[in-house]
Amino acid sequence: MAKEWAKSFYKSKEWQECREAYITEVNGLCERCLENDKVNPGKIVHHIEYLTPDNINDPEITLSFDNLEYLCLDCHNEEHGVGASAEVVRQGLMFNSHGELIKEG
Ligand SMILES: [Zn+2]
Ligand SMILES: [Zn+2]
Repeated sequence: MAKEWAKSFYKSKEWQECREAYITEVNGLCERCLENDKVNPGKIVHHIEYLTPDNINDPEITLSFDNLEYLCLDCHNEEHGVGASAEVVRQGLMFNSHGELIKEG
């Protein structure tokens, strides 16, 4: 499950708006697939510098486009070393930027 310290961030209006704006910015496509000339819709906005209890309140880290990357599940799992078989547990659940299971949306 998502860690307590990250829950309120992922539920915050600031993050939801930032996330939506970023997805629009990258046209909704997985950035790593695109680098490999593959066009795949993205799924998860990943924090390049992982969120920690120390930086969770730092908008320069949490809400900066420079620290975000839009990834499909495969690329995100690869980034976090999550096994492909673990990616979809059931409908409505997804991994957050720490590979922790959270409710989608
Ligand atoms: Zn991808
Ligand atoms: Zn991530």
